[in-house]
Amino acid sequence: VPVSHIRNFSIIAHIDHGKSTLADRLLLQTKTVSDRDMKAQFLDTMDLERERGITIKLQAARMAYDASDGNQYVLNLIDTPGHVDFSYEVSRSLAACEGALLVVDASQGVEAQTLANVYLALEHDLEIIPVLNKIDLPGAEPDRIKQEIEDIIGLDCGNAILASAKQGIGIDEILEAIVYLVPPPQETVERPLRALIFDSYYDSYRGVIVYFRVMDGTLRRGDRVQLMASGKEYDIDELGVLSPMQIQVEDLHAGEVGYLAASIKAVEDARVGDTITLVKPAAPEPLPGYVEAKPMVFCGLFPTDADQFEDLRDALEKLRLSDAALQYDPETSSAMGFGFRCGFLGLLHMEIVQERLEREYNLDLITTAPSVIYWVTTIDGDVIEIDNPCNLPSPQEREKIEEPYVRIEMLTPEEFVGPLMELSQSRRGDFKDMKYLAQGRTSLVYEIPLAEVVTDFFDQMKSRSRGYASMEYHLVGYRENPLVRLDILINGEPVDPLATIVHRDKAYYVGKALVEKLKELIPRHQFKIPLQAAIGSRVISSESIPALRKDVLSKCYGGDISRKKKLLQKQAKGKKRLKAIGTVDVPQEAFMAVLRL
Ligand code: GDP
Ligand code: MG
Repeated sequence: VPVSHIRNFSIIAHIDHGKSTLADRLLLQTKTVSDRDMKAQFLDTMDLERERGITIKLQAARMAYDASDGNQYVLNLIDTPGHVDFSYEVSRSLAACEGALLVVDASQGVEAQTLANVYLALEHDLEIIPVLNKIDLPGAEPDRIKQEIEDIIGLDCGNAILASAKQGIGIDEILEAIVYLVPPPQETVERPLRALIFDSYYDSYRGVIVYFRVMDGTLRRGDRVQLMASGKEYDIDELGVLSPMQIQVEDLHAGEVGYLAASIKAVEDARVGDTITLVKPAAPEPLPGYVEAKPMVFCGLFPTDADQFEDLRDALEKLRLSDAALQYDPETSSAMGFGFRCGFLGLLHMEIVQERLEREYNLDLITTAPSVIYWVTTIDGDVIEIDNPCNLPSPQEREKIEEPYVRIEMLTPEEFVGPLMELSQSRRGDFKDMKYLAQGRTSLVYEIPLAEVVTDFFDQMKSRSRGYASMEYHLVGYRENPLVRLDILINGEPVDPLATIVHRDKAYYVGKALVEKLKELIPRHQFKIPLQAAIGSRVISSESIPALRKDVLSKCYGGDISRKKKLLQKQAKGKKRLKAIGTVDVPQEAFMAVLRL
């Protein structure tokens, strides 16, 4: 295919604005996939993704489109994940494109993720085509939303396309716009090979399958290639295009998108953002923008049943083959026994991994509350990274603690500005900016410790804005704060997975609330259980769980059957996932108590 007949594009959107539905439509309209083969949301392959309605892993699809000018074009759609945890992957996908469809729900308007994605697309100089989706909805206000996009983003919406991905309206116009507005790739086939990896996955038969865009030169089956960041060399066993099923080809040239297999053992050997070049002649420089995605959020994973430790190790090892961003190290806890300290890109990534371990590997796990990475300067002047509160050096051994901060932008209707400012301030946020963008759209910017965001900030933001506000955040650096470790003692014994690092000024409040919460969550036993919160040797709060009465139902006077049932159900539920800590059975919820204060 001549480069002039290739168009590479992405679809960018806030979650639920219709990206996946539109992608399906484009595949149908170009007959890339037949109606019969079209499962709902073809590009979102994992069950988990479908259930949660989010796109986790991006993939690509090549379509042949007969345009109104009489020519046939190759359109490569490169899908992007729809969540902040994966924004690095979004940026690599966009780097592989010349244009982007900006999908905005015509009944909702511009949201935080819309803005964040547009900024990324602009950074890569992409041609942006605005599409107002869901115009079939009675609440759709395409004219108002067009104005909103112009006001907020500064994007000309004179030629914005009105569409309904669901009903198939505006799809031809979108395909024509891609051909006429998105520029073709540059003619760089004469240069040494450089191909950008924008996704990869693990296949147990062929090894890692790598998705890439050839930026310069030509790649042929049988070529010996080198990955410039990892330094590893491979022979290309298989080369092909994605239609979206894999179809083998002999070679791919600058501007084209495809996949390869080369007996690569694990995805960490072919990371997103790495550059593929030939061993001979090698490109002098890799493509710009490569970063090794690093975990930001950590938690402990322990099997409820100690016998499952080896199974958990095997499962993590397997998951890691397909997930380079997942990190894990063995952890031993006096309270919990043997488990792993695991690192994730963010909270969603953490939840996905936990769910996969339990569903696909049948493990019963206790998860401890998420933590971030602290930088601790010791009195010797060394800087150490602490991802587990238990390992924090004592106040005598440390000089200072620094913690990661994120810049968070919320878009909200004016009436929720007050409650959201209150929320941000209660989370130690520093106010940075407030801007009225358009009717019903005020932007609030704060810099907040990441530790305060990973503890249910998103849910709080949603509930305080009745679901109307949206947010987006990214890391801005580390800052020193007076932080202390808060220990929890159950029955007089410190329980290390319940230890947290908190701001000195909040320690008393958190300790008190945590102990009260634990009192609610830990079931009664035959004996009285003291609960304490302490900083060092100083107890700042204490409570106790009274001993169990003989008959739990005795407190339901009279014959209120439904209440009795509820009580019994509650007990049965509490039994499901317990960890024996000394002589006390502690339920899973207790380990997450700090998230629900
Ligand atoms: P994504 O999160 O951006 O991938 O959004 P999805 O494609 O998963 O769509 C989110 C929801 O909006 C789904 O329930 C879709 O059926 C629905 N949806 C998508 N496009 C349209 C549309 O044009 N009209 C209507 N009424 N609903 C749509
Ligand atoms: Mg989707």
